[in-house]
Amino acid sequence: MTVKRIPLIAGNWKMHKLVAESENLARDIINGKRRSDVEVMVAPPFTSLLAVARLVDTSDVALGAQNMHWKDQGAFTGEISPTMLTDLGVNYVIIGHSERRHLFGETDEMINHKMQSALKHELRPILCIGETLEEREAEQVFGVLEVQLEGGLSGISTALMENVVIAYEPVWAIGTGHTATPEQAQTVHRLIRDQLEIKFDKDVASKTRILYGGSAKLENAGELMSQADIDGLLVGGAGLNPLDFLGIVNF
Ligand code: PEP
Repeated sequence: MTVKRIPLIAGNWKMHKLVAESENLARDIINGKRRSDVEVMVAPPFTSLLAVARLVDTSDVALGAQNMHWKDQGAFTGEISPTMLTDLGVNYVIIGHSERRHLFGETDEMINHKMQSALKHELRPILCIGETLEEREAEQVFGVLEVQLEGGLSGISTALMENVVIAYEPVWAIGTGHTATPEQAQTVHRLIRDQLEIKFDKDVASKTRILYGGSAKLENAGELMSQADIDGLLVGGAGLNPLDFLGIVNF
């Protein structure tokens, strides 16, 4: 039996958009023409979360955060807790984005704390994994992803996997304009799904949504989404323009 996975198109706004700009973008996405069989999520910067939360509240657009700390509260200057996110009605949280790993030193251990904490607070984590160009050239893609998956998902029960989304984001494709070919992405997505079957079971492997991220845009969204194991897109740059993002949503 083939399992139907609802596609998820998620916009990661990164460190872009002031509050009024975020509201405009959110309004355009909420009110834009969108196909109804796709789930849409937007992840504004923390400073715009409340404003966007108020707008998406009465819509079918889900709200995401770009990061969080794993503790509920405490002396962690500059951090945001999972309860602060749920307080605003946040549904999804991006965990272990490559910019967090490479620019801010996040380790698989920290990422695992965040995964566990998000699930405990009923936030849906989007676990980002992906290899660098050097790792790809050294033919280490599978080994790298296996370690990131194992580290990120350590201690997570089969039942809780229902709320987990994985995003395959090759580091060499993020923000570079060099998108993985649909075939390259499909090959890796299949590997990830096989790994989920080994780590959990067939059911988890067939139900878990695996998104692709890395220079996804209007021109390649359709072909990427036509691959059997690509269940959605995590979109950075192209998600900042409502027409581009809506075009991707309507792949
Ligand atoms: C991202 O930041 O998750 C991303 C995929 O960025 P871009 O689409 O700009 O490559």
